[in-house]
Amino acid sequence: MRIPNILSGKGPFFDALVYVARTTLPPRAELSKLLDRIYETRWVTNFGELHNELESKVAKESGARYAVLCANGTLALYALLKTLDFKGDVLTTPFTFPATVHSIVMAGARPVFCDIDPDDYSLDPAEVARKIGPETSAVLGVHVYGNVCDVDALDAAASPRGVPVVYDSAHAFKGEFNGRRVGSFGRAEVFSFHATKLFTTIEGGAVVTNDESIRRGVRHLINFGIKDEESVVAVGLNAKMSEFHAAVGLLNIKETDRILEKLRTLADIYRGRLERVPGIKLQKIRPGSTPTNQYMSVEIIAEDFGMDRDSLYLALKSENIVARKYFYPPAHKYECYKNESFSRVSLPNAERAAAGILCLPIYYTLDEKSVEGVCDIIASLRANAADVKKKLSSAR
Ligand SMILES: *Cc1c(COP(=O)(O)O)cnc(C)c1O
Repeated sequence: MRIPNILSGKGPFFDALVYVARTTLPPRAELSKLLDRIYETRWVTNFGELHNELESKVAKESGARYAVLCANGTLALYALLKTLDFKGDVLTTPFTFPATVHSIVMAGARPVFCDIDPDDYSLDPAEVARKIGPETSAVLGVHVYGNVCDVDALDAAASPRGVPVVYDSAHAFKGEFNGRRVGSFGRAEVFSFHATKLFTTIEGGAVVTNDESIRRGVRHLINFGIKDEESVVAVGLNAKMSEFHAAVGLLNIKETDRILEKLRTLADIYRGRLERVPGIKLQKIRPGSTPTNQYMSVEIIAEDFGMDRDSLYLALKSENIVARKYFYPPAHKYECYKNESFSRVSLPNAERAAAGILCLPIYYTLDEKSVEGVCDIIASLRANAADVKKKLSSAR
């Protein structure tokens, strides 16, 4: 077994940095052909033909009647929440990317954090049932890492009170639950097509829904609130997707099945190799869920692994592996919310997950051999944990 570089000093395992994600770019020649079309028409933004074509493809792939493409996922979330006119509390998870919670606050509502399930890391429906009340205007769930959250239980907790459930589905494009596509759950779902996501338009996002009034509202909001030439019906913003972004999307969306298959292959290798390593806990995939494997998480149980998450992060870095601490800190610990009453909550499961989880490299162009390499390194770090820990504490 190879001695970790942090101990041997013989050099990193990987010659170049291996990141947690890498952008899927379409073949240049094909992109060039689509760009020719844009150059001919000179229609570069404002709901052009490529935009419209991509919009119907996104709707089709998500099993929803309507899609509204947006400039990014954050503005899509904001536009959705604004359209639904949530004014009271929005029950949500602290174990997510900042955009989820910021969009609630920016839309003028108050986030109320519910703790997560300790095994799949998504919103715990029992917590939602406990915290739901007359002030609750919505529930916002997140399909963490691409594993569909407990949509049925969340619906059961919210529906009897007439509270709508919506989803931040940034990780879950083309994920499924019991054969049903992500995009068709709750009142509406929101995708991100950011450069790091499995289906990307570079920057981009979408709201998908079966509700025509939501479609209309979001569409107005992302175009300055303009309804027609002579009426402005909402305090809107500019969050349209350009033709150039749509062109990248039209080529990438054709690849999504191949991307998902590759991510599944890589995740299977990781899972097969790492589930046997003491001190490593893998995300529980709910029966019936077909995850996207947008992210590959490992939770480090320090007592059994021999070192904590932050030590593993540093040891991997010295092998040129750039793992990410998604999602640390949890949202109720953000500096920007430290004076807000909603941040003064104790959420032990979310805090434990945020302190213990590391996301490992997984993306379309990553090869199986590299994943085996990452697993070898993790096994060797576990075997040499005492020495690694000593080395790191003397370096501090
Ligand atoms: C990426 C991401 C977003 C933000 O999407 P952008 O397109 O980058 O604005 C929102 N929520 C989650 C969970 C994400 O991972």
